[in-house]
Amino acid sequence: MGTQAIELYYKMPKEFRDEGIYISVLNACSHSGLVQEARSIFQSIETKTEKIYSTMIDCLSRASLFEEAQKLIDEYDHDHSPSIVMYTALLSGARNFKNTDLSQKLYDRMEKFFPQMASSLTSAAVLLANTYASSGDTDKASNIRNKLHKLGQKKQMGITSTVVNGISYEFRAYDRSHPRSKEIYAECEKLSAELLQHGHQYDSSWITRPLNDGETIESVLSTHSEKLAIAWNFIANPSTSRIQLTKNLRICQDCHRATKLIATIRKCEIIARDANRIHHFTTDGKCSCNDYF
Ligand SMILES: [Zn+2]
Ligand SMILES: [Zn+2]
Repeated sequence: MGTQAIELYYKMPKEFRDEGIYISVLNACSHSGLVQEARSIFQSIETKTEKIYSTMIDCLSRASLFEEAQKLIDEYDHDHSPSIVMYTALLSGARNFKNTDLSQKLYDRMEKFFPQMASSLTSAAVLLANTYASSGDTDKASNIRNKLHKLGQKKQMGITSTVVNGISYEFRAYDRSHPRSKEIYAECEKLSAELLQHGHQYDSSWITRPLNDGETIESVLSTHSEKLAIAWNFIANPSTSRIQLTKNLRICQDCHRATKLIATIRKCEIIARDANRIHHFTTDGKCSCNDYF
C-alpha cells in the first residue's frame, strides 16, 4: 500500500521519524514502484544509515535503475566499508531482469570484498545461477550449482505451510509424503487444466534445474510447494472461500500468476506470506502487491 504509506509518512510529525520509519516508507515505495517518491524522501533524510541506503538501493534495483543504484553503493563505499546487503539487493534486481552480465560482475565483486561471508556468498551464487538459468544459459547455471554442491553448500529448500481445519501441514516441491498425496496430485492436475483453459502459460524460465525423465515444464511448475498446499486446501474443504499459506522463500512468478487465476476460477481468496511480503489474491484476479514483488 505504497501510496497510503507515503500519505501517512507526510502526516507524521517530523520528530517521530526515525530509521525504522524511513525504512518502512522507502520499502513501501520499493514494493509499489514509486521511485520518484522514494528519491525525494531519501534526499530529505539527514542521517542515512546502512539500512536506509540498502532500502533505497533495493527500490532502484527493482525498477531496473541499476546505474543509479550502483552510484549509491559507490557513494556509501566512499566513507564506509562495503555492505554485502546492498550488493545483494542489486543482484536480486539484476536477477528479476535476467541481466547476466551485471549479475556476474556483482558476484565477482562480492567474492573479492566479502570472502569471509560464506552463507551470504552462497545465496549470491544461487541467485547468479538462477539468473543464468532463467536467461537460458543452463550450462553456466549447472556449473555454479555443481561447484556449490561440491563445497557442501546446499540451497535452502522451499517449504509452504498451511493450516487446514486447525491442523498445520507442510509441503515441499514435488512432495509425496502426505498420506493423501495421490488425491493432491490429481487436484493439481485439475487445477492445471483449469489454468490452461483460462489462458495460463507455464513459464519455463522459473525452472532452475534440468528436467528428469517423465517430467514436463507443466508437471514441474504445477507441483511447486505453494500449488500442493492450495490443492490440499481444496481437497479438505472443496467449497472453501479463503486459503492461507506461508512460504519460507519468495514465491516464484509462475506461482504468482497461477494463484491470481486460481483465486478467480475457484472464487477463493488466497493469502500468501512469502519471505518478503504478504500477497493478498482476491477473487477479481488481482494481488495486493500489484505484481510488484
Ligand atoms: Zn513456484
Ligand atoms: Zn502478489
